[in-house]
Amino acid sequence: MENSNYPFVNTPLPYDYDALEPFIDEKTMYLHHDKHLQTYIDNLNAVLEKHPELQKLSLEQLIKISVRLPKPLQTTVRNNAGGVYNHRFFFEGLTNPAQKEPHGRLAQAINQCFSDFDRFESEFKKAALSVFGSGYAWLVYSRHRLRTVTTPNQNTPIEQGLCPILNIDVWEHAYYLKHYNLRAEYIDDWFNIINWDKAEQNLINCIKNRN
Ligand code: MN
Repeated sequence: MENSNYPFVNTPLPYDYDALEPFIDEKTMYLHHDKHLQTYIDNLNAVLEKHPELQKLSLEQLIKISVRLPKPLQTTVRNNAGGVYNHRFFFEGLTNPAQKEPHGRLAQAINQCFSDFDRFESEFKKAALSVFGSGYAWLVYSRHRLRTVTTPNQNTPIEQGLCPILNIDVWEHAYYLKHYNLRAEYIDDWFNIINWDKAEQNLINCIKNRN
């Protein structure tokens, strides 16, 4: 991940704000990246400014050590480092036009762990719908298997030693302007813009790093 050290800057989206239309609208992408993600970056830099001992750590390291920090520093680091990590992961995982389904190694792994792609899709959707309030659904790799998990707020699977492949942000700010309260329709739209090449690369990296 680019720029993964203090001071963090908001790297641009890898596509235009309107690139994901009609599935995710331009205004949502602009606010989500330039306002919501920017706030996590600003808050993370502000807390690190007061804690020089943490400034050398990467985003991933900050998330992993946050559990050992005293509260309320723990909560602030976890929420804001997690907010940056989760949003970058989400934005980098999208593209348009996208392939309908994964291919290669990821397709094989999905078929192995979920029977087939349709079954994966319905399990993932169920997970994303099950998040109460704000959070994320993830496809993760762990112990040679893929599975879906959810995280509340800005928690991340890497805190639990799980290696992320794919995520969907189901905070209302991710979809409310276009989809209103209809999270299921947002999830269906999101399935059209998954960057499967990126997801497969994530799987290959997870395997290489022996998760
Ligand atoms: Mn978000």
